[in-house]
Amino acid sequence: MRILVSNDDGIDAIGLRTLARALEAVADVVVVAPDRDRSGASNSLTLEVPVRVTQVDARHWRVAGTPTDCVHIALSGLISPSPDLVVSGINNSANLGDDTIYSGTVAAAMEGHLLGLPAIAVSLASADHVGEHFATAAEVAVALVRRFAAGELPRELLLNVNVPDVWPGTARGMRVTRLGFRHRAQATSPQLDPRGRTVYWIGPPGGARDTGPGTDFEAVAEGYVSITPLTVDLTRHAQLAAVAGALSS
Ligand code: MN
Repeated sequence: MRILVSNDDGIDAIGLRTLARALEAVADVVVVAPDRDRSGASNSLTLEVPVRVTQVDARHWRVAGTPTDCVHIALSGLISPSPDLVVSGINNSANLGDDTIYSGTVAAAMEGHLLGLPAIAVSLASADHVGEHFATAAEVAVALVRRFAAGELPRELLLNVNVPDVWPGTARGMRVTRLGFRHRAQATSPQLDPRGRTVYWIGPPGGARDTGPGTDFEAVAEGYVSITPLTVDLTRHAQLAAVAGALSS
């Protein structure tokens, strides 16, 4: 099996290195990743300027672009033969609930999925972006890849995986979950630049709002690995009839 590894924390991130090293034990691994931290890049593609790709060694490519650029370019000619699977991460913080909309980690996996490959996004549910036990998340990734290789998971696969930041072997197990939901993000913080102009830092994500039974938030809070199968269809199916009815009158 050939696996494309990418991330959004950048090619030098410890999470990516830990993931790639662990997967090398079970697969042929190639890494195509952003040259710097592109967290929050979501599904953005760089369209107005060319994207420079630098080959670091036989298996690593550094990309001056977004996570989505990385996977798109990798699967559109850079990497041959084509990988069988995309694994993104290990992100240095959780991607729970609506984080998945903004996440470059999830976007990298989603790009693989959109281009026809099974894909897994892996995040370490660390406190304040100071992840410790990346090895725990890497173990989970390897376990899922083994399951996939054995044909035990659907071929059409887009998984969002969040792993508690605990010592390897001490997570309580795996739970298949639905996405929860956060409160709106915290306020932006305005500051003055050296020339007296106002600039803004985007605030951190809001606290958890829907953390109810079956959610990813609940699973991670209770010490379980959260595994959410995702779909790209954003249609609000339950509202189709209501909107159609309102517009027909
Ligand atoms: Mn990140």
